[in-house]
Amino acid sequence: MEAGTETNSMRRAAAILVVLLGGAAVWWIGGNGPDVAASKDALNETIAAGRNRSGANDPRLTGARRFEDGGWIYVHVEGDPATIGFEHGYLLGPEIEDAFAAVSAGMMHETQRDWAFFRKVAREMLWPKIDQEYQQELQGIVDGLRARTGSKLDIDDIVAFNAFEELPDYYVPWYNKQQKTAHAPNLKSPGNCSAFVATGSWTKGGQIVMAHNNWTNYANGERWRIVFDMAPKTGHRILMDGFPGVIASDDDFGINSDGLMVTETTITQFEGWDPNGKPEFVRARKALQYAGSIDEYTKIMLDGNNGGYANDWLLGDSKTGEIAQLELGLKAYKLWRTKDGAFSGSNWARDPRVIREDAPQFEPNNLETSPNARRVRWEQLLKENKGKLDVNLAEKMLGDHIDSYHQRAETNERTLCGHVDSSPRGVDVWGWAPYFPGGAVQAKATDSTMTKEMKMVARAGHPCGEDFLAKPFLAAHPEYAWQSPYLRDMKAGPWTEFHSGETAVAQKQR
Ligand SMILES: [Zn+2]
Repeated sequence: MEAGTETNSMRRAAAILVVLLGGAAVWWIGGNGPDVAASKDALNETIAAGRNRSGANDPRLTGARRFEDGGWIYVHVEGDPATIGFEHGYLLGPEIEDAFAAVSAGMMHETQRDWAFFRKVAREMLWPKIDQEYQQELQGIVDGLRARTGSKLDIDDIVAFNAFEELPDYYVPWYNKQQKTAHAPNLKSPGNCSAFVATGSWTKGGQIVMAHNNWTNYANGERWRIVFDMAPKTGHRILMDGFPGVIASDDDFGINSDGLMVTETTITQFEGWDPNGKPEFVRARKALQYAGSIDEYTKIMLDGNNGGYANDWLLGDSKTGEIAQLELGLKAYKLWRTKDGAFSGSNWARDPRVIREDAPQFEPNNLETSPNARRVRWEQLLKENKGKLDVNLAEKMLGDHIDSYHQRAETNERTLCGHVDSSPRGVDVWGWAPYFPGGAVQAKATDSTMTKEMKMVARAGHPCGEDFLAKPFLAAHPEYAWQSPYLRDMKAGPWTEFHSGETAVAQKQR
């Protein structure tokens, strides 16, 4: 059966069933064993029970669905902002509760602030600057989550949680400096990700190729495996990777139905915050939803720039073949663009003014550090493969294990596929101690042709395919024991293709 011929009620049944039974439901849909009839009966009963439960027959869930594939949870949401939020909160309810516990514990541990501090910041500083559309979506997440799990989390919790990339490492150090806080922890902006975008004579066939792996601590990273297919009432359709309960991709990797391709890596040793600005997670989501060009994207990111989660944005416009790098500091920014070239990112700033004004501690010539060692490796790989770059090659590059500083194959903090848990150095410029359990946690890639069809490929876990196992790690490194309630095995999945409008049924027939 073609996905397009499905009725609403069938899609709805499939969605509820997958929600209730996860992997078992997917097995049933593709089922061809002797127990299929019996399990169908059992499942029909379960579906009926599910419908009777509060929330499951809410009309707001009519268009929503989820299924799992390749270690990812695919979530389709559609409608007005409140509905999209409700669907998100309901379909990912258990994952949001679980991710909130891990993320909030990390935020409090790192900053030595209690959760009430973050709730107050969310309510007083962030909320008034959030566009009404996203206020409604965030409230929708709370409503959906409560309908699903009976959660006690409220809007202040969810707003603070959505800002988990910008509050602890951008706002708090700025605030501590303002307040002259005694014994303030040494907080540093994070180094998230390795990425490139290329076009013209650099790629096979001249189309745009974009690829990205997400670097973060493994506790959060193992949970960063949602594929969101969003069909908002206004703006463009979005396909992006994401985090349970967060309205932006946040790591970031996404495409939209106007042909825009977006990713980023953060700026190491960035300092600064504007309390009157608009949260980064709101600007990033808005730009992916409403921008159809590099200029529009830049304009939305600059509007209300608060300095939070300051990134080098790598952009592609599949309509024109043009790519861009937007180095977005707070006091300074710079936009480079070309129809024939390649831009890479691994957490370094390159504009002298941005470095001077926004990341004054950053040493661009210290090739020993993770950002610069990976920059050297990107330059080598992109040059070696000029004219041949495509999604297949990008997948391999994202799992690359050459340390350009040692000039040999290793798994450590200097490889494009990061494994800081095996580095005796850690990453001092981000405040990651030796053997910090962090590194590359998942990866994605796409090209212009795939973008026009709203497709991407994604791999859960280390992009090289290696597993991270929590138990032996914690036994060897008791200094990270505080993470033991949250740190789980991070098993690598296969490279898996996803597209907009996908259903569990179609998925299993491919
Ligand atoms: Zn690796």
